[in-house]
Amino acid sequence: MQEKGSISIHTENIFPIIKKFLYSDQEIFLRELVSNAVDACQKLSKLASLGEYKGELGELNVTVSLDETAKTITISDNGIGMTAEEIKKYINQIAFSGATEFLEKYKDKGDEKQIIGHFGLGFYSAFMVAGQVEIVTLSHQEGASAARWVCDGSTEFEISAAAKESRGTDIILHVSEDAQEYLQKYRLKQILDKYCKFLPVSVSFDGETINETKPLWTRTPSELSDDDYLKFYRELHPMNPDPLFWIHLNVDYPFNLTGILYFPKLKQDIDPNRSKIHLYSRQVFITDEVKDVMPDFLMLMHGVLDSPDIPLNVSRSYLQSDSNVKKINSHITKKVADKLMEIFNKDRPVFEEKWNDVSMFVKYGMLSDEKFYERAKDFCLVSNCQKKYFTLAEYKEHVKTLQTDKDGNIVWLYTKDAAKQDLFIRQAEQKGYDVLVMDSMIDSHFVMMLEEKQEKVSLKRVDADTMEKLIPQEVKLEVLLNQEQQDSLKKLFEATLQTKATVEVQALSAEDLPVVITLPEFFRRMQEMQQANGMFKGMGMPEMFTLSINSNHPAVQKILEVEDGRKSEMARQAVDLALLSQGMLTGKELTDFIKRSVQLSLN
Ligand code: ADP
Repeated sequence: MQEKGSISIHTENIFPIIKKFLYSDQEIFLRELVSNAVDACQKLSKLASLGEYKGELGELNVTVSLDETAKTITISDNGIGMTAEEIKKYINQIAFSGATEFLEKYKDKGDEKQIIGHFGLGFYSAFMVAGQVEIVTLSHQEGASAARWVCDGSTEFEISAAAKESRGTDIILHVSEDAQEYLQKYRLKQILDKYCKFLPVSVSFDGETINETKPLWTRTPSELSDDDYLKFYRELHPMNPDPLFWIHLNVDYPFNLTGILYFPKLKQDIDPNRSKIHLYSRQVFITDEVKDVMPDFLMLMHGVLDSPDIPLNVSRSYLQSDSNVKKINSHITKKVADKLMEIFNKDRPVFEEKWNDVSMFVKYGMLSDEKFYERAKDFCLVSNCQKKYFTLAEYKEHVKTLQTDKDGNIVWLYTKDAAKQDLFIRQAEQKGYDVLVMDSMIDSHFVMMLEEKQEKVSLKRVDADTMEKLIPQEVKLEVLLNQEQQDSLKKLFEATLQTKATVEVQALSAEDLPVVITLPEFFRRMQEMQQANGMFKGMGMPEMFTLSINSNHPAVQKILEVEDGRKSEMARQAVDLALLSQGMLTGKELTDFIKRSVQLSLN
């Protein structure tokens, strides 16, 4: 018996389209065919469990084999198989998906999501690499006879009887000239490792099983130990240090999502554009481009997501507006916040220990997602120069008494670099103030958010103003100089400075420097933003600083007393000291200062 036929007319244009448009993704043909084979096995075990298949199931498995001489790749399974009629129906009528019918028939009988055919592209992707495709198959049905189908990629096909004696299907690809790369063992192994490593039915190639049929994320969390999670992580990311903690996702309504997300130890050279999360659909690897599925701020996480409910093969913009994707997105956000909250509540010391590594996620999350902010504000920590950690509420309490200014604002002081700003920090601490450390990339944004979100709280860098003015109080020290003296000092220092800066005379404490340089908070922030945005690059934005002359310092009073010739030298020395304390004295000015200081020490 032999039959020739023609595949229904609307398929005519499909082969070239598949070939052309999916060229870059050519290697997925193997994923598609192996998944079909896995489906065929699962369908059979489903039938057996329903009592509709009474034969011996045996060990269900899929084998991929390569014959370099014959130039064929064969994908074999011992699953459900097909009759000649079924081939015509399922294979020839692309639009008519066998899976849909199978599902229709069995959907009320159990766990249908396990057996839905998935990618739509499926079997025909074989023609991306094969000039001719053969199917040799024997249906599981009692008394069925084996059938052979051959097609060369045109709409013509041939169907005939075959000699196959064991149940299941062989798909034989006669690899075309322009796809010879797939006739290499290592190449096939590479593709199988990429896409098929966690398929639910055993797959073997070249005498080896290539997959783990029950990967960790499909298992019940209560049965798993920390070691299991760590082991799995090391398998996924062999080069990385162990993760900080993880979240096992397991949702089946209103969308289906499983997976394990790990919080990695962040390295300095993080690349936020390269995602480390692998997206699967029913244990078949799809992509590591999860940009639109994961909330932005969690792109730095590692691990696996598995969901049949994320639409595949669709455009980016579509994905973003897909309601399942949105739900998945907010579910993940919530889970991450819950996990952090849980650790915070259960074991604060551990949470503090890990804070430095997770603070990036948390801060970024709070900045970019209102809902996350609401959850995170209770466990978000800040730490001071003594490395003591506080929640935002705790910190507010901590500094309330000494750091409330005359208008009732609580002023939080911070440093970007504790080593460089040591002098300022010590002076602040002498006054009983506390200084926070805000030294990460994201902190300039975080500082603004803290201010915006908390009423009557403002943040100032510890060098934003002189100690007296940093947290303005009602009582002010008195300037002990008359107007004329003040004016002459101002003139002298303006001439010494030679750059544009605000010069003022102020009554500071005698412990302060004779001259103090401060960088006003507002201008400094503007500058930081502009630098971050790449604005004014190379335009040499002038440093906006204020020079305060400490009228209460003996050195300043001395300047007024000495003869004119020495005045400018003393002023120069005082300014240089102030610049030095801000790390602003460099180059020739620094050398001159050192030379002058040596000279002075000899006087
Ligand atoms: P999908 O898998 O999305 O339904 P395919 O084009 O991949 O679409 O496959 C069409 C149909 O052909 C499948 O639904 C299935 O009924 C049948 N089929 C494909 N491969 C096999 C196989 N190895 N064993 C049994 N049936 C198969």
